[in-house]
Amino acid sequence: MTESPESPETAALPEPFPTDWTRGLVLVAHPDDPEYGMSAAVARWTAEGRHIVYVLASSGEAGIEGMPPAIAGPVREEEQRRSSAIVGVEDVEFLGFPDSRIVNNPELRDSVADAIRRHRPDVVISLYSGPEWAPGAPNQSDHMEFGAAVGAAYDDLVAAVGVDSAEGRPQLWFESAPEPTHYVDVEGFVEPAVAALSQHKEYLSVLDPRTPVPEQARAQVEGVSAPRDGLAGGHPVVGFRRMRP
Ligand SMILES: [Zn+2]
Repeated sequence: MTESPESPETAALPEPFPTDWTRGLVLVAHPDDPEYGMSAAVARWTAEGRHIVYVLASSGEAGIEGMPPAIAGPVREEEQRRSSAIVGVEDVEFLGFPDSRIVNNPELRDSVADAIRRHRPDVVISLYSGPEWAPGAPNQSDHMEFGAAVGAAYDDLVAAVGVDSAEGRPQLWFESAPEPTHYVDVEGFVEPAVAALSQHKEYLSVLDPRTPVPEQARAQVEGVSAPRDGLAGGHPVVGFRRMRP
C-alpha cells in the first residue's frame, strides 16, 4: 500500500491495516462512537466493496442532557442510522443495554458473541478499552466495560469453535485506539467522515451549544485522522491497535 516498514528507524511505525478481508463487524458502546474515531476508515472500506456492520451496545439514551431517555434513545438511533449510511453502512443494530451503565457481564458477553456468530465477520473492530486516551484524558467506563466484554466474548468464541472464520470466528480483532499498531490511509475519506459525525445534530448541539455542529465535527475528525510522521506519505490516517491473535 505504502512504504514498507523495513528500515531500523521506521521499524516501530504502525503497519498498513490488512486488506485480505471482506466482512467487518464494528462493535461499540454508543451512537457516535464510530464517528468520533474510525468512520473515515469505514468510508474507505465500504468504497472498496467491503461489507461493514455496526452493532451498538446502547442507544445512547442518557447522552443528551435535558432530554428524557425515552425520547433521546430513538433520536440518537435515527442520527446513527443517517450517519452510518453516509459511510456506506446500512446494517446498524442496537443491543439495548443501558447507556452509561454498561457492565461486562455474562448477558453482554453473550450478546456480543451472538453478534459475532450472526454476522460472521473476518475482522472485528471495537472501541478503545484502555483507561486513558492520553495522559489526563480518561476513557469512559462504558467504553472500558464494553471493550473488555468484546475481548472476553472473542476469546470464548475462539475457544469454542476454533480458528475457522467459516464457523463464525473472526481472524482479527482491533481496537480503535491511541498508540496504533496499524493504520488506514484515509486520503479522500475525511469529508464523508465529517458529514457522518455532523448527523449527530441533537447530541452535538447540546454538548456544545456555542460551536456549530459541522465545525465540531470537522475539528474532531481532522484531529483524529491527522497525518503522522512517516506514514502514508503525509495523508490523513486512522489508527487501530491489533488485540488478537
Ligand atoms: Zn461512547
